[in-house]
Amino acid sequence: MSSADRTHLNERTSVPDHGPADCKTAGIRMHVEDISAGGNAALEPGVFFEMGATLPDAAPHPAPALEIPLPGVDDAEGARVPEGLPPVVDAHVHVFPEPLCEAVWAWFARHGWPIRYRLHAPQLVEFLQARGVDHLVALHYAHKPGVARELNRFVAQLVRRYPQVTGMATVFPGEDGDETILREAFDLGLAGVKLHSHVQCFDMQSPGMHRIYALCARLGKPLIMHVGREPKSPAYACDPYALCDSRRLEAVLHGYPELRVCVPHLGADEYAEYQRLIEDHENLWLDTTMALARYLPLPDPPALEDLRADRIMFGSDLPNIPYAWDRELRHLAAMGLAQDRLTRLLSTNAGEFYGIDLPPPVNQHAPVERI
Ligand SMILES: [Zn+2]
Repeated sequence: MSSADRTHLNERTSVPDHGPADCKTAGIRMHVEDISAGGNAALEPGVFFEMGATLPDAAPHPAPALEIPLPGVDDAEGARVPEGLPPVVDAHVHVFPEPLCEAVWAWFARHGWPIRYRLHAPQLVEFLQARGVDHLVALHYAHKPGVARELNRFVAQLVRRYPQVTGMATVFPGEDGDETILREAFDLGLAGVKLHSHVQCFDMQSPGMHRIYALCARLGKPLIMHVGREPKSPAYACDPYALCDSRRLEAVLHGYPELRVCVPHLGADEYAEYQRLIEDHENLWLDTTMALARYLPLPDPPALEDLRADRIMFGSDLPNIPYAWDRELRHLAAMGLAQDRLTRLLSTNAGEFYGIDLPPPVNQHAPVERI
């Protein structure tokens, strides 16, 4: 960790107490140390939290939005991608080494929702391929310093084994050697960077984050970062409502016009603000993960027809979902969206954002006419 980061950390405010925070970091840490040779010492609990002094005030902390754990859904699943859809890029799936995957799922079962498909990375890739999904963007995140290299190597191996997978790199914001870690990951073939503010508890204006923005902007690498406030859990070590605010992201978008950013979940729950941000900023994209499922107890997002067509990507969040793998694809197929919007949503936008070489846009699933 750099001295600038340490100074910043020393200036932090106290960590909000969210009660049962015994699980996520502690549980995963145990498992990660099994898989991570020479990982750093465990984090002190307070070291997660950084606060910037010059940022807009965060929204007041509401009561936790989720009654957790939420129930699983036993909805019927399809055997294939619904007929009539254009080729599908799933721009948001999660891959971790097996022990970490198990730890994440145990956390979800206790603090989020039951995981319906307990698919480890290779099985997940083959599961989706067998059902007609053409390409995946594989995401992961480092929950503490010292583990990103190992995780990035794992994803790079997956990418080498499966050409239909585009892999992202991760880093723990502010950790020692952060830029080198990312450069090494790009050299291994990873296409961009994934960060998760709820897990990594970063402040979007911390020095470590500025190094990531600058590097990605300079190298033309996309950055996908979960900086929406939902779905939050009181089990996280920090309060997403204190860290995530669309105005803070807007400051980043202004500061780094060359940086391309994707925010998952349509920016939940600040849907209206993110709807405006993609109108105003040429460097922001959103993905739809979980926002089309009608599962989370959040307000409905805007209709897809009302969102800028060239900025939205489909993503499933598999395997960490509690409902059928194709639930959101079936919703999409039933919406009657114009074919060009559907094609952009399901493949072209992700292809452009992540730099994926896609096959020509022919309907390879079924010769069904759509509106
Ligand atoms: Zn996700």
